[in-house]
Amino acid sequence: MKKCDHVKDLILTDYIDGQVDKNIAGEIENHLLDCNDCRVFLKEVKSSVIFPLSQIQRLPVPAELWDRIKQNIEDENQAVSPLLEFFNKLKGLLLFPRMVPVFASFILMFVAGSVTLNTIQMQQAQAKDQGEYLVSLLNPTSTASLDSSDPGTPIEHYFL
Ligand SMILES: [Zn+2]
Repeated sequence: MKKCDHVKDLILTDYIDGQVDKNIAGEIENHLLDCNDCRVFLKEVKSSVIFPLSQIQRLPVPAELWDRIKQNIEDENQAVSPLLEFFNKLKGLLLFPRMVPVFASFILMFVAGSVTLNTIQMQQAQAKDQGEYLVSLLNPTSTASLDSSDPGTPIEHYFL
């Protein structure tokens, strides 16, 4: 009978563990009322699986073993502590939602500021280079004209 196979499967697994829902447990129990075969099966399972397990003596765990387990766990925690610290800090930040926008805007300002500074410096450097280049094109002796021994133009004489 197919139903018996199904009931026996359930008996061996979830029913014994008390994991089946009430409807299924009810179906199994109804089936057991009608079916001697499954009743015997359940009895056997209970006597051969459940009873021996319930009779097992709980052996006391030696304190030494607990200490070693504790030590191992602590060592493992120690090994990941920098990462753990980082996550804790991150968690701390997230626990104070007001801090997040402040922190984010600070980072944004910092990034934007450094980018702007870099561009300005680059633009200035380029402008200076270009200017000097143009001057050297127009007046190949312009650097020499800065020399004090050079008489220069009349305008320069006026201002100097
Ligand atoms: Zn049955």
